[in-house]
Amino acid sequence: MNTRRNFLQNLGLSTLMLQLTPLNSWAESNILTNERYDGPVLRVAIMGLGSYGSRVADAMQACTRAKLVGVISGTPSKIKDWQSKYNIPEKNCYNYQNFDQIRNNPNIDAVYVITPNALHHNQVLRVAKAGKHVICEKPMALNAKEGHEMVDACKKAKVKLLVGYRMHFEPRTLEIIRMRNAGEFGRILFFQGLCGFRAGDPAQWRLNKQLAGGGSMMDIGIYAINGARYMVGEEPVWVTAQETKTDPIKFKEGVDETIQFQFGFPSGATASCLSTYNMNNLDKFFLNGEKGFAELQPSTGYGPIQGKTHKGALNQPITVHQTVQMEEMAQIIFENKKPIVPIDGEEAVKDLKIIDAIYLAVKTGNKVGLKL
Ligand code: NAD
Repeated sequence: MNTRRNFLQNLGLSTLMLQLTPLNSWAESNILTNERYDGPVLRVAIMGLGSYGSRVADAMQACTRAKLVGVISGTPSKIKDWQSKYNIPEKNCYNYQNFDQIRNNPNIDAVYVITPNALHHNQVLRVAKAGKHVICEKPMALNAKEGHEMVDACKKAKVKLLVGYRMHFEPRTLEIIRMRNAGEFGRILFFQGLCGFRAGDPAQWRLNKQLAGGGSMMDIGIYAINGARYMVGEEPVWVTAQETKTDPIKFKEGVDETIQFQFGFPSGATASCLSTYNMNNLDKFFLNGEKGFAELQPSTGYGPIQGKTHKGALNQPITVHQTVQMEEMAQIIFENKKPIVPIDGEEAVKDLKIIDAIYLAVKTGNKVGLKL
């Protein structure tokens, strides 16, 4: 039986934390009020059984509203391993050639695409055509044109398209958004987003333009882009950007190593961000307003997310991001629940438009206008 207590324990929340933490916006936005759940369960097949796919699969074991029931992979041995680890029946296993047949499988509701970036576009179009809801990893596509096509295809097929923006459900992040909306920071003046890590193996797909679509910006810089938008609470109207490269052998033409970029917002607020594959320990957000500030470090890693504001330390519960994300996605799909920060295809297209503009600004050296 799914009691509230064992569910919360699954999420890694201690009873003590619950007693200390008032139920506020983040609690309303997630599953903490759930006593016992007997409603519909989102039956998910994961496509791409790599490192992040495995993390999502493990996190889903604690879900009550979503369940891993199928796999799509090109590697038969991985399928066998996942079948025994997660109790997945043979009839819910597919490969990249035959997964269109998922259309005839009444036991799968949604496919979660967790493959290299360049494959997302075509795979999402195929899943939509098969009539299943799609969850797609970030970056949703390589550019805004592909993103628009994916949104249109899912609309046409009458399926939902959601993107794995796990930070949109993270309690400490949501507390900053609540404080901003309540005016506690006053007028927002400035955001800084620093996102990066040192890319290791030069042979990995992340450093292959054909599969990654770019470099650090596609993979980790997107967190600073998306973060600037949800922390400031406005859409940028211009961007400037500068690229630096210390290792042109490892980071070939079209694979950015480090890009610094700046945004201007309609209110006059600005942002200054850094995306890199050349520095570790770079995972920090800072928001400054006329009346206060917020700081997160780490800000987008798997956690625990740590932070403070001018009022003191943030102490909202530490969650397993992917567990909460899948619980919330089930409610978005089945109940049309509206998340505090959107996670749909249109939201992802905005990030892709910004990425297009950043690459254009790097290439031309010009300030590029944005209409999101
Ligand atoms: P990974 O290399 O560990 O896994 C990719 C999987 O795709 C592998 O199982 C691989 O076999 C499979 N694959 C299918 N076709 C392939 C092909 N043609 N070439 C190479 N691999 C192919 O990568 P990952 O870290 O799991 O990243 C997958 C996606 O998830 C990326 O889009 C990435 O940006 C995203 N991601 C998101 C987060 C997050 O926190 N939201 C974290 C990590 C990765």
